[in-house]
Amino acid sequence: MAIATINPTTGETVTTYEPLSDDALEDRIARAAAAYRAYRLTSPEERVGWLRSAADVLEADTGAVAELMVTEMGKTLASATAEVGKCVTALRYYAEHGPAMLEPKPADAAAVGAQQAFVVHRPIGVVLAIMPWNFPLWQAMRFAAPALVAGNVGLLKHASNVPQTALYLEELFRRAGFPADVFQTLLIGSSTIERVLRDDRVAAATLTGSAPAGQSVAAIAGDVLKKTVLELGGSDPFIVMPSADLDRAAEVAVTARCQNNGQSCIAAKRFFVHADVAEEFTRLFAEKLGALVVGDPMEATTQVGPLATESGREDVERYVQDAVDKGATVVVGGNRPDRPGWYYEPTLLTGITPEMDLYDEEVFGPVAALWTVRSLEEALEIANSHPYGLGANLWSEDEDERATFVRDVESGMAFVNGMVTSYPELPFGGVKQSGYGRELTELGMYEFMNATTVWIG
Ligand code: NAP
Repeated sequence: MAIATINPTTGETVTTYEPLSDDALEDRIARAAAAYRAYRLTSPEERVGWLRSAADVLEADTGAVAELMVTEMGKTLASATAEVGKCVTALRYYAEHGPAMLEPKPADAAAVGAQQAFVVHRPIGVVLAIMPWNFPLWQAMRFAAPALVAGNVGLLKHASNVPQTALYLEELFRRAGFPADVFQTLLIGSSTIERVLRDDRVAAATLTGSAPAGQSVAAIAGDVLKKTVLELGGSDPFIVMPSADLDRAAEVAVTARCQNNGQSCIAAKRFFVHADVAEEFTRLFAEKLGALVVGDPMEATTQVGPLATESGREDVERYVQDAVDKGATVVVGGNRPDRPGWYYEPTLLTGITPEMDLYDEEVFGPVAALWTVRSLEEALEIANSHPYGLGANLWSEDEDERATFVRDVESGMAFVNGMVTSYPELPFGGVKQSGYGRELTELGMYEFMNATTVWIG
């Protein structure tokens, strides 16, 4: 894939970049390693100062950065602006809580025959972050804020279609006053990742993206015994039981499915609705999906913009066509609008059967698949049969149903009467083919730290 900004609203190529040469890449890795030797010795207080400054710089840049993301991957200006705000919040969260997370954790010294015993979390080194385009600022920040407060150094290999956002991130940390080279962007294609990952000066890697990319990175990292965190695909279930507030559930279902133009790992993608309320919920859901304003993502009134890439739209069209060929019903949508850019209408499909590709894969666009079920157990059985297990939603006022859902759903996140969302205050991650490890909170920070046992006699 060329490293280029191609505006999904028009299909126009805005800027292309040459990938780094071998020598330039070697120079950047060497600089990262040198930066780490000094950066690991900085105090948490110094790092917090730089983090706070990064939050201020980013906040001041909000408008320009939001427009850049809209141009590179087509999300609406409103959601891009919110994404910048979320990154500012995450920087301030780790600035506020990071130092306490880095405090030594005392153990029972007497029980182990020591004068003192404790665990100290030390940085791990240079971490390679391989990131996707869908939340181009947030995905990278979710890694960067905890990594930098921990004393690690970051090398960002961003998705090839968001190079300007990737370069902005490097510039942001430089302008915030971080020491030189503690956060660098590598403009490289995915075929060069192996060379970086195998380099002895790189300690670990985190990847957010598709399952095939995760498998490839995990295999290489396994070969050289390096730690990885993988945040991969999702096909989150959204279960609606008879006791739910149907209008509210349908309202949130639309946002949960169509946020980010339908391209979110934690988007609700499969809807399981109890037969007692299926007709009413389907009507409300279809009505609200059909009312969404699809258009230029720079317009304030637009709710759904184009898909990020031409091939992404082709994938979505293929899933819908395959389902329709195998008997699915299109309740609303199902077409590409007649306009330039890579748009696809918000779509609702019913009559889903296991033969359809979307049954156990992931549709990365505004297409909802709806099942009518007779019980929570039936919903959970189909939901859990999917290879992914990222997030899950339940809508119910029944305490027993909530408890069953939290106990039995195979996912890393279980949200009741609300949409799966990431917050710095809550761990984020999945199980099964959705990956392993957690981001955010102190768990996310500790993933790339050496929890060192100290025993002093
Ligand atoms: P992708 O193709 O896997 O790309 C993600 C990143 O991995 C990009 O930087 C890409 O570089 C790189 N990459 C691609 N193939 C690779 C390989 N074989 N080895 C190593 N790196 C490789 O993902 P996408 O299709 O753009 O993004 C959508 C996917 O990401 C969806 O499945 C979505 O659910 C998932 N996602 C997960 C989360 C989460 O937190 N769990 C969050 C967001 C998205 P190039 O751009 O240069 O190819």
